[in-house]
Amino acid sequence: MDLNSKISDLPRVGSFLSNKFSKLGIHTIEDLFYHVPSHYLDYSQIRKINELRVDEVVTIHAKVVSITNVVSKRGIKMQIGSVEDETGKLMVVWFNQQFLTKTLYPGKLVSLSGKIGFFNKKICMSSPDYEILDSEDSGTVHTGRLLPIYPETAGLSSKWIRRIILNSTNLEVNDFLDDETLNKYDLVDYKKAINLVHFPESLEEAEIGRKRLAFNELLKLEIQSEMRKIVWQKNKIKNQLKISKDQMNEFIKLLPFKLTDSQDKAVNEIVADMNKDVPMNRLLEGDVGSGKTAVAAAGIYASFVNKKQSIIMAPTQILAEQHFKTLNLLFKDKLKIQLVTAQTKQKDIVSSDVYVGTHALLHKVIDFSNVSFVVIDEQHRFGVEQRTHLVNGSNTPHVLTMTATPIPRTIALTSYGDLDLSVLNESPKGRQIITTWVVPEEKRKGAYEWINKQMTSENCQMFVVCPLISESEHETMKDIKSVTTEFAKLKLQFSKFKLGLLHGKLKPKEKQEILDEFRLGKIDILVTTPVVEVGIDIPNASIMLIEASERFGLAQLHQLRGRVGRGTKKSYCLLFANVKYSKRLKAMETMHSGFELAELDLKLRGPGEVFGTAQSGFPELKVASWNNYELIHDAKEVAKQLINKKDFPIKNWIIQTV
Ligand code: ADP
Ligand code: MG
Repeated sequence: MDLNSKISDLPRVGSFLSNKFSKLGIHTIEDLFYHVPSHYLDYSQIRKINELRVDEVVTIHAKVVSITNVVSKRGIKMQIGSVEDETGKLMVVWFNQQFLTKTLYPGKLVSLSGKIGFFNKKICMSSPDYEILDSEDSGTVHTGRLLPIYPETAGLSSKWIRRIILNSTNLEVNDFLDDETLNKYDLVDYKKAINLVHFPESLEEAEIGRKRLAFNELLKLEIQSEMRKIVWQKNKIKNQLKISKDQMNEFIKLLPFKLTDSQDKAVNEIVADMNKDVPMNRLLEGDVGSGKTAVAAAGIYASFVNKKQSIIMAPTQILAEQHFKTLNLLFKDKLKIQLVTAQTKQKDIVSSDVYVGTHALLHKVIDFSNVSFVVIDEQHRFGVEQRTHLVNGSNTPHVLTMTATPIPRTIALTSYGDLDLSVLNESPKGRQIITTWVVPEEKRKGAYEWINKQMTSENCQMFVVCPLISESEHETMKDIKSVTTEFAKLKLQFSKFKLGLLHGKLKPKEKQEILDEFRLGKIDILVTTPVVEVGIDIPNASIMLIEASERFGLAQLHQLRGRVGRGTKKSYCLLFANVKYSKRLKAMETMHSGFELAELDLKLRGPGEVFGTAQSGFPELKVASWNNYELIHDAKEVAKQLINKKDFPIKNWIIQTV
């Protein structure tokens, strides 16, 4: 048996129990050890009966004198017993545990842990945890110590989990870190850590053990990302590109605006990468509206002047079409640009300098052999498979991934550690701050009146975003129903305006028509599910109203808010909320950086909550925390050292290498 052994290989764990364990995500013995307690009960105070004080939580070792099932007048089933040690007698009471009289009969030596209180005006111990002792000096597992309480599931209590973990702790565990490393990073031995977490003598000990398990968890992620980096860098560029300063200046002249400093820096980083014989693998991170498209266009141009092609792949048809328009405006007739969506017919696809499209790009017959630059917009929405599909082949292209998700630096270091990072941390000049209000339900009427006035006097347009009701990242019929209901309500409320409804179940053509009407001002109010979250650019829309905003992560709210304030009109974001007061939401009123909001949300909630679990692609940590910058940093350092060691058993670590 070792750490990778199945949990069902353990004695006393049959298929019934192992099924329960798998509900908790525990399949191997290692998983079991990483199932760390949510908290500990302090049962470490062992007392004699004559020393007991009311309200104290203690442990006693005593002999059962009597125990009987009693039914109270109100029908409550109780087990009332008496125990004694050499100093005195104590009453013990349990509720609804009729089976106890079969195990705890007179003469049995027991260890009882619980709180001292009163019952019928007599001192007693109420509902204690108990275990039978074979002799005075047998050790205890469930009493008389710091008692770990685990995340449980129906039919699998902490008591069972504790027992099974105890049964596994005599397993041999080889540490993969040497003493020098342990000392340097103030870590304990792996096996010791397991014991400290599950059987600590003090909370400090538990914390020391926990730190090591957290380190292991982070180390694994770091090693995986280091491995991905190594694998990636083995790729070679067939025909190395040459991009001159003059050529890039030609590109700059095409732009109708001056690049921001951070755009300029990102462009230089990308062009420098593209001049190398190792393919670029870079992440371009920037708030909504920070101008990522112009940066991507620089790479497209660099590829073009080398007589190579580019691909830009977007997560939705709307975004693909928007990129298509933008690039056509920018490059006029200089570059040949082909749009490829599900609607595009194979026969209409002609050889081009740039292919802009959705997933459909992967399903059409297109000769990608001359492609040297690939842009993936909003990468966390793409599966890894699709990514590899575009990137595979004898001729690896340079890859730029773009995201508006402000990835907190700790996550960027781990999950995205294999990517080089360019950040756009400023808005193009003149972009305004969007005045944001959290609106409690009782102010809804007033808010509607304000909107009415504002839309009339400013002649502006409004988005209304309804959240997805179900947990899944895809819209369900329930979501469609709810947005449709809201649409009907608002139609009555704002009868003098024209309203449009947008959701994912509409046909692409219908979606496009509605968006076009909105863009042309034929629709004043666009009611929508969060499908508008990314990308679309409607300068005359200056009010964003979000329903049930407490359901969104702050970073996501910030992205949504970025849909307005794209033109010259003063813009507003109204966050309706079904909660009385939320410090989290209030932060939207004062903070205007997506990065800061994401960091804050990460602190207040987990990454799954912040970015939406399914779509985020961010791993959930079991022991470690994304807030522990120092530990993440240390783990990264150690990962780099380990991976360079010849004898390091990488295979044991890598479950899946991307
Ligand atoms: P995002 O990063 O959200 O993809 P876009 O690339 O769509 O942002 O750019 C948003 C808008 O800002 C576009 O209308 C674009 O033309 C404009 N823009 C981009 N860079 C600049 C700049 N340096 N100065 C002025 N406007 C810019
Ligand atoms: Mg964009």
